[in-house]
Amino acid sequence: MRHLLSTADLDRDSAVTILDVAEQMSVTQQREIKKLPTLRGRTVVNLFFEDSTRTRISFEAAAKRLSADVINFSARGSSVSKGESLKDTALTLEAMGADAVVVRHPASGAPHRLAVSGWTRGCVVNAGDGTHEHPTQALLDAFTLRRHLVGEPGTDLAGLRVVLVGDVLHSRVARSGVRLLNTLGAHVTLVAPPTLLPVGVGTWPCATSYDLDAALQGEHGRVDAVMMLRVQRERMNAAYFPSAREYSRRYGLDARRLGMLPERAVVMHPGPMNRGLEISAQAADCPRSTIVEQVSNGVSVRMAVLYLLLSGERSAPPDRAPTPGLTVSAGRTARDLTAGGAR
Ligand code: ASP
Repeated sequence: MRHLLSTADLDRDSAVTILDVAEQMSVTQQREIKKLPTLRGRTVVNLFFEDSTRTRISFEAAAKRLSADVINFSARGSSVSKGESLKDTALTLEAMGADAVVVRHPASGAPHRLAVSGWTRGCVVNAGDGTHEHPTQALLDAFTLRRHLVGEPGTDLAGLRVVLVGDVLHSRVARSGVRLLNTLGAHVTLVAPPTLLPVGVGTWPCATSYDLDAALQGEHGRVDAVMMLRVQRERMNAAYFPSAREYSRRYGLDARRLGMLPERAVVMHPGPMNRGLEISAQAADCPRSTIVEQVSNGVSVRMAVLYLLLSGERSAPPDRAPTPGLTVSAGRTARDLTAGGAR
């Protein structure tokens, strides 16, 4: 694999490899000096055509902690049409010698277009495209789940039950998450009002429900994690529910619903949160919430992805070969990822 565009690119072994490398990256992030020399001399471009706080900062921190040079490009406000803008920008970045392009774009498929276009020779990492995919979010969520509920590196999420709640229709986090969690052996139940479930959700590898209370009470089995999704008003061009109050009453995670969860279950949200709408302040800030931890885990996971994509032998001329800064355990290397997980 040259690029990370979708969680469909990952089989079980390559996903577990990324989580394992992220685990090692996270150990290095506990040290006083957090920087590794691994990607010295490489250039990572953050190409953001859509707003972002966590993801952009997280990719920037990840690249910098691996000693890559980072160029941040925010295309907000461009008057050029989306396709041309992407092409022109990509050609400019190519001229600057980007080894990896981390792209967020409001149009679903934009990172794929960039990857197949030949406009850049760099690896393309999808940092969220429209309502389509957000693979590194799914990986950091899986990493967080494994840490809390499984504990063992080298393992997947077999048997875990995750309830994903809210605006599935507009959520790239849900699309990437359902696929990756399924690849890793977890069982997912999507809970949403019928208006916020996409057409064709019946073909997704998960169960669906309109009843949050029933799902939390174990309609489909004991719940290990509840993942709340943001209500994405900026993508809504119609009324998808009668009122915010009604949504919150039926699909919000509040203190009463927290009380329905088994003791070890965790509460997750990718951020940004609409406090008081899909999640109450009490739920967001409760001890079983992993929301802040998800953000720090994001840096380790993105370090792993950049490391595995960029330190492969594929395109690295000898004079740009990475300085060894990290030992990948169990003989697993970037090649495992590039070979789709084959060992
Ligand atoms: N931050 C996530 C995304 O970019 C989730 C969200 O915006 O609700 O998709």
